[in-house]
Amino acid sequence: MDVIVKRPNGTQDVTPAQVYKWHTIEQVVKDSAEQFGFKEIRIPTFEETGLFVRSVGDTTDVVQKEMYSVSATGDEGYTLRPEGTAGTIRAVIQNGLLNEAMPQKVYYLLSCFRHEKAQKGRLREFHQFGCELIGTASPAADADLIALAHSVLGRLGLDNVELHLNSIGCPECRAKYRQALREYFLPHREELCDTCKDRLDKNPMRLLDCKSEEDQELAKDAPVILDYLCEECSAHFGRVKKNLEIMGIRYTVDPKIVRGLDYYTRTVFEFISKDIGSQGTVCGGGRYDGLIETMGGKATPALGFAMGLERLILAMESRGNEFIAEKTCDLCFVTMGDAAAEKSVELAQLLRDEGYAVEYDLVGRKLKQQMNYADKIGAKYVIVLGDSELESGKAKLKNMKSGEQTDISLGEELCEQFAAQYYAMMMDTDDDFRKFVEAFSDGQE
Ligand code: ATP
Ligand code: MG
Repeated sequence: MDVIVKRPNGTQDVTPAQVYKWHTIEQVVKDSAEQFGFKEIRIPTFEETGLFVRSVGDTTDVVQKEMYSVSATGDEGYTLRPEGTAGTIRAVIQNGLLNEAMPQKVYYLLSCFRHEKAQKGRLREFHQFGCELIGTASPAADADLIALAHSVLGRLGLDNVELHLNSIGCPECRAKYRQALREYFLPHREELCDTCKDRLDKNPMRLLDCKSEEDQELAKDAPVILDYLCEECSAHFGRVKKNLEIMGIRYTVDPKIVRGLDYYTRTVFEFISKDIGSQGTVCGGGRYDGLIETMGGKATPALGFAMGLERLILAMESRGNEFIAEKTCDLCFVTMGDAAAEKSVELAQLLRDEGYAVEYDLVGRKLKQQMNYADKIGAKYVIVLGDSELESGKAKLKNMKSGEQTDISLGEELCEQFAAQYYAMMMDTDDDFRKFVEAFSDGQE
């Protein structure tokens, strides 16, 4: 059967069978962010369009072609966020966080919307994990933020992802560089794509970020920004590299990286995976020292990055990396008759209160089909309840993996007896569980 209305092009459903991959990534990024001192921030899905035009920049692809602007009767001028930094900085200013202890470190997990050509690793609704580090101009902060991204990728088993690093200088060095770029591209003006003809006048650095092959070819021999950095920007870049070296984080200086958003200054970087085809950038970020002031906050240096979660999953899949397994059912009651069914409701409640994942028949199936269901959902244990079990107050607890059966009381001792069986089984079969218990008991001695 076909669904009548399908999901929009460039969007994805995550089914329950696949969601463990998302949970894995969400868990890892939260752990890493918190380890580096970042706290979560949540912001609206839509903002005033002007917010993105001002921050992302009106000569960028995002603003020129990709924004989903929305309207409701009598309510116009809103856009679904194409990225997370603008809204986050808006929220930081609006909630007075600039008056709190500096630096402020915030992270987010959110969906973004861009009207792009949908393809592998490029969606119209995609998800980002992002971090913003606000209130420091120190190059140590650039390196520490990169170290956070590096740590996330390492924990996901993506240690082959390459760090590409560049500095695009401050407005002063960029003025000279822009001039040089203009002079370089001007003789080729007619060969450029239409958008880039316009960019040549307004924002020539955008030419380096153009996706058109002809323009990329032309850009190959363009002057590089690193030759135009002023002394301070150059020293800053040197310190960032030094700290990365201290931390043992390998990088490649890549003067072609200018990033797709206009707010960046000085350090910019991308982490690029070779495993997932041409949309290989899994993380992009950099410093944006001027952004907060342009958005109405007091001048405050800051920096950040965002990772594309779909691309992280693709990269992990392509390497065959492990994801954290989902919790499955601990115990499923299988019942015969109304009295047993009622008892299963009561006992499930007791065990759930103790923290176990417990299920019982909700369909009214026969015993055999209930067993099949328990098997399909991967229940670790089954208790079969019928009249004779109710009468004796005892039943068999069946370990579904080993087939082993043990007696279990249906009375007061149920929880205690189940806990003992469960613990022994976990110590026997789950290495992580055993290691955790052993580490904990070592610490107690
Ligand atoms: P790209 O060069 O691939 O278009 P970008 O420079 O537009 O990326 P950013 O705005 O820096 O990307 O967003 C940060 C990250 O978000 C990217 O590195 C990527 O992993 C992810 N991302 C960006 N656009 C998409 C998209 N349309 N679909 C899926 N992920 C995306
Ligand atoms: Mg893009």
